[in-house]
Amino acid sequence: MKIGVIGFGAAAIGFIEELKDQEHEIHILERSKDVYSSSISGIRSDGKIFVSSTMGGDMNIPLHIQQEVVNFYISKLDPEDRKSVKTGISFDSKSIYFEDFYSEGFEPVNSKFWHIGTDKLGSILRKVYEDFSTRPNIHFHFNKKVEDIELIGDKVIARGNDFEEEYDYLVVAVGRSGHTLVKKITERHPELIAANNTVDIGVRYELPDHAVEAINNEMYEFKVRLITKTGYTVRTFCNNPSGKVVLENYDDFVTVNGHSNSAGSSENTNFAILCTTRFTEPFNDPFGYGAYISRLSNILAGGRKVILQTYDDFLNTKRTKRLGRVKPTLPEDGYILGDINLVLPRRITVSITEFIEKLSRVIPGVAYPDNLMYAIEVKFYSNKINNNRYSNLKFIGDCSGHTRSITYASGHGKLLAMSLKK
Ligand SMILES: Cc1cc2nc3c(=O)[nH]c(=O)nc-3n(C[C@H](O)[C@H](O)[C@H](O)COP(=O)(O)OP(=O)(O)OC[C@H]3O[C@@H](n4cnc5c(N)ncnc54)[C@H](O)[C@@H]3O)c2cc1C
Repeated sequence: MKIGVIGFGAAAIGFIEELKDQEHEIHILERSKDVYSSSISGIRSDGKIFVSSTMGGDMNIPLHIQQEVVNFYISKLDPEDRKSVKTGISFDSKSIYFEDFYSEGFEPVNSKFWHIGTDKLGSILRKVYEDFSTRPNIHFHFNKKVEDIELIGDKVIARGNDFEEEYDYLVVAVGRSGHTLVKKITERHPELIAANNTVDIGVRYELPDHAVEAINNEMYEFKVRLITKTGYTVRTFCNNPSGKVVLENYDDFVTVNGHSNSAGSSENTNFAILCTTRFTEPFNDPFGYGAYISRLSNILAGGRKVILQTYDDFLNTKRTKRLGRVKPTLPEDGYILGDINLVLPRRITVSITEFIEKLSRVIPGVAYPDNLMYAIEVKFYSNKINNNRYSNLKFIGDCSGHTRSITYASGHGKLLAMSLKK
């Protein structure tokens, strides 16, 4: 069978790894110029991988499949680099923090995790690429941005500006950055959309390492959820000890994100505080809502920048004019000092405030007045795709709306490939 795979990210890797020894002819169409320069994602930046039944996606990926995915990535590291991978379990029942968080109303999220670090990810990609590209049945085509697809009889066509390819079976694996293509396909095939009504909106929080040192040492990544008085669920996400805050670039706005190297690169820890926002009819454009708020923060910041505020000024709804002891790790040209209360709706600011106050009862340093808040951080959920509609057109990974992490995206690809082998 001639199989086309659009995009070479975590989901495509899981899919191809499982099928590489089969007789299928696999063609990968990737819009970037080579394997190293494709759009930012967790397999090019940070590389924190988890095995968890409660986070990383909204589908069931059996834990043993998740573990196989993790083992696969770790096995691609040089033996020396494997030693520097930080690993542990967040919130197993023996953790001293479990009861502290639980008694404050938090749900501690249990997961096994491995942190590889931005600086080590290049070599993983290189090894995966070398393995795949030297096989006679696997063909990479770079600089191939797919603009549209078409179902004709039992074939699927993928089209770009200067190419048109026909496949027996097409896998769309374009991640979140490929949302324009997915939008185009689902507008023409609305029957593919199962549901979507969610966007996560919040801030990136930054504070000195020493304020969170004990919990960082115990579990590196602490994930907790809280149902706040507003009814919104707020959670921590992507904790980066000794990490850096970075901008995340979209075509028409910027948001904020964070990452860290394997050996650490600053004296600050950053993590996201995200508020899950769900809508009901008639509103059905959560992406538009998140994009609109992101743009508002950029407009107030005077360009492709985010707003930075101290925690105390945020509480007092005052524009920050001077920073305190915590030095921002985001370079100065990426932010403007301002007031996040002018950007985020009250229901979100109230939820975030309650979350931070309760968090500080467990980790007091979280509420230091000069801790930093960057706005906004947003996590878009793609439309959930119904993969049962067509037997020869499938969506895997984040663009399917069912995954949000490396493990789940790769696991999704692997499960699809396993179903083809049956
Ligand atoms: C800054 C950042 C840090 C992250 N850190 C982590 C982390 O530490 N741990 C974790 O588990 N998750 C992390 N994530 C999330 C994780 O990266 C994703 O969940 C995962 O990569 C999704 O895999 P995917 O294959 O669906 O998409 P991706 O890995 O994003 O791959 C999609 C590929 O498709 C290509 N593409 C897009 N559109 C087209 C098109 N039209 N034609 C051809 N090619 C196209 C892109 O160039 C890209 O190579 C992070 C995300 C970001 C943005």
